[in-house]
Amino acid sequence: MAKIVAKFGGTSVADVARIERAADKIKREVDLGHKVAVVVSAMSGVTNALIEHCSDIYSLYDASEYDSVVSSGEQVTAGLMAIALQKRGISARSWLGWQVPIICSELHGRARILEIDPTELNKRLDDNEVAVLAGFQGITHAGRIATLGRGGSDTTAVALAAALGADRCDIYTDVEGVFTTDPRIVPAASKLNAISYEEMLEMASSGAKVLQTRSVEMAFKREVPVQVLSSFGDKIGSELPGTMVVKEDETMEEHVVNGITYSRDDAKITLLNLKDIPGVAAKVFGPLSEANVNVDMIVQDISTDGKLTDMTFTVPRSDVNRAKEALSKADDLKGAKIVSSTDVAKISVVGIGMRSHAGVAQQMFAALADKGINIQVISTSEIKISVLIAEEYTELAVRTLHSVYGLENIA
Ligand code: ADP
Ligand code: ASP
Ligand code: MG
Repeated sequence: MAKIVAKFGGTSVADVARIERAADKIKREVDLGHKVAVVVSAMSGVTNALIEHCSDIYSLYDASEYDSVVSSGEQVTAGLMAIALQKRGISARSWLGWQVPIICSELHGRARILEIDPTELNKRLDDNEVAVLAGFQGITHAGRIATLGRGGSDTTAVALAAALGADRCDIYTDVEGVFTTDPRIVPAASKLNAISYEEMLEMASSGAKVLQTRSVEMAFKREVPVQVLSSFGDKIGSELPGTMVVKEDETMEEHVVNGITYSRDDAKITLLNLKDIPGVAAKVFGPLSEANVNVDMIVQDISTDGKLTDMTFTVPRSDVNRAKEALSKADDLKGAKIVSSTDVAKISVVGIGMRSHAGVAQQMFAALADKGINIQVISTSEIKISVLIAEEYTELAVRTLHSVYGLENIA
């Protein structure tokens, strides 16, 4: 008998029929004697529609009211899922974030979970009641509803699994697991049986939307075994058909590169004619951090005359205007010219084997050059290499690299 958290994403609860199919799977877990907490997303498309309603009224909407609006999608599915379970003779009830409570930070629109009190939920799980939680939401200390950023139901699920001390967190979605790249771009992408937390973290943070980055951070930190699996197949989580995200020594994959990701969510900013003096980088990145803008890739040109230099970096596309405003207001940067472009994509190659194998970067650069794709910025970590290219080459670059590293149809 295990304790399991099962999360169903938007397409897995897109209509009443799918909610009923999901409920059938939960019933099979319950019939096996498992204690189950379910986390649900809003029906697919609902969150987008709610966001649009906010900006249709006022583009400068208040973030806490935005949260009040967009969190409502999950409330509907949680109630419907509880009804579907009750119809199957299972004792179940829905829980909103504030009812648990799930306490969040005050950063509306992308709040962090600070604490989940598991006492009441655990008591009820012990009494064989299935808890159905609305994902993506919590309550701040000030008593307002906050949401966790797009894809945040994954984080609700993992945080709940950690708080409950669950044996596993199953993330049911519309693909069979974590693939070597987005299977919608490369149909020959291979499903991985297991992937390490480290690699999954790099894949998520560099664009693989299958798990929200924060959910992987949380799983890594709290050592929650996570499984990504399809809600459309016949198997249930306890049959382990998906991809296990686990500690490095529990993965058996032997490839140098395990995944290729892409992101179209970045923008490139270049500062021209910066004074080439000590402290210039701090003068650029100070105002950005004060404006709460995350900087990702950075390259500073070597100054040819010893006086002026250029600096290029990427920021989230949604923050580009805020970033430019912060830079243009900075007194220290007067005289520098600010240029930006959203016509960029970040392509990354991820693999734990890079720690011990040389030549991965060279292979990447040569393959892209061979296709005539120009690299604008490069950044690396111990197990990841990312390049910034023109957005129009995204799919070509992903397909090319996926085949160059031999990731097609691997077992
Ligand atoms: P959900 O609504 O269930 O949360 P998401 O749309 O957030 O689902 O995540 C699933 C999607 O992630 C898939 O449909 C797939 O297109 C995309 N994806 C991107 N990269 C990968 C990858 N490496 N492996 C699996 N899916 C990926
Ligand atoms: N419904 C939210 C979103 O679309 C949260 C989630 O599905 O994880 O981003
Ligand atoms: Mg998702």
